Amino acid sequence: MNILVIGSGGREHALCWAIMQSPLCSKLYCAPGNGGIAQVAECVSLSALDFDAIIAFIREKKVDFVVVGPEDPLVQGLVDRLDAEGIASFGPSAAAAQLEGSKGFTKDLCAEYGIPTAAYGRFDKAEAAKAFIAEKGAPIVVKADGLAAGKGVIIAATVDEANAAIDDILGGRFGAAGAEVVVEEFLEGEEASFFALCDGTHVLPLATAQDHKRVFDNDEGPNTGGMGAYSPAPVMTAALNERVMREIIEPTVCAMRERGTPFKGVLYAGLMITAEGPKLIEYNARFGDPETQVLMMRLDCDVLPLLTASHDGTLEKVEVRWKNEVALTIVMAAQGYPDDYKKNTEIRRLVEAGAEEGVQIFHAGTKAESGRVLSTGGRVLNVTATGKTTADAQARAYRAVDKIDWPEGFCRRDIGYRAIAREKQTA
Ligand code: AMP
Repeated sequence: MNILVIGSGGREHALCWAIMQSPLCSKLYCAPGNGGIAQVAECVSLSALDFDAIIAFIREKKVDFVVVGPEDPLVQGLVDRLDAEGIASFGPSAAAAQLEGSKGFTKDLCAEYGIPTAAYGRFDKAEAAKAFIAEKGAPIVVKADGLAAGKGVIIAATVDEANAAIDDILGGRFGAAGAEVVVEEFLEGEEASFFALCDGTHVLPLATAQDHKRVFDNDEGPNTGGMGAYSPAPVMTAALNERVMREIIEPTVCAMRERGTPFKGVLYAGLMITAEGPKLIEYNARFGDPETQVLMMRLDCDVLPLLTASHDGTLEKVEVRWKNEVALTIVMAAQGYPDDYKKNTEIRRLVEAGAEEGVQIFHAGTKAESGRVLSTGGRVLNVTATGKTTADAQARAYRAVDKIDWPEGFCRRDIGYRAIAREKQTA
């Protein structure tokens, strides 16, 4: 099969790395890709949102299957376009991707089908939103309805902060994505991510993960796209996984089918494990970044039949196998991230670092130029390792990090600390 992966981050590098190992893959393209992806796939400089150009490329190169990584092309209807052209792909239609594209849509669906989530209100007028906030009190959470690149969520410690967030969002800070807000109850507990493949009807649970969103050690500093992750999430016992499937994932897939917008692709549930049990914080309609990097490292079977079964509606016929190991990834970012940072700084000794046992380095924001690797973004590398325990995987990953010569970069030094503390307790 000729395969095209859409996207340019660490997630897409991990997907390409896994797909390239499939005996079913004869040629692998990635659009637009990055400096690391170029080592495992042929990168083509097409924008993920230029659907006409993508379709022309698919026709020219006789691509058999397209894997869509990021949310923007999904929400804007790339899979619908591919379907209309008779091209097979992995990912949801625009209507199904509303589970990620509109927080209000998902909250209403949860309310209608009894799926556990935080109590909420939806507003397009500041006055009504503020009255709701006054009634509920703080802490309270204010969210832009649409896609805001992970920046549209404000955890307000006071009513004033919540009101300011309302003015900010409805005042146009996120453009059309902020035409409406969701205001919701603050949930307390431990967060975890749950990934499941769907084919419109059947669900195949994949795995769990946890990430570190704050930029500095001890989970301090501003939120980021994620500074590291590990899988599995130790908080997720077999009993909890079973509850998440029964109370959250299966009713969602059922509801989407009933509404005539069946969900195909990967459903990524952000969960809060509260004293009352798991509650849905949000859905994403695609693989997580950097969670995919750890999932692909743990996968112990061919990824391609899983992705094609999601498209074909045959997920009940495939099985997934996982290594009996933990995988952990450390994000290396450009100094200054998530604020301003320098681009085009050189990264050296990646080959030596990648040669550490059990380590793979996925590139999130690099380009290859005349044999050199240069940074092109905020989050730049995902140094990923497997190990018998989280502590083993962490030690391997930091050994590799310490070999990388990139003075303009930094990373957290405590990725996985919560899981390691739990391991120590149970040892
Ligand atoms: P989201 O983009 O909806 O996943 O929100 C980003 C982050 O905000 C989540 O990962 C949580 O850490 C936090 N968050 C979102 N909603 C809530 C909530 N209702 N209660 C507590 N924390 C929340």
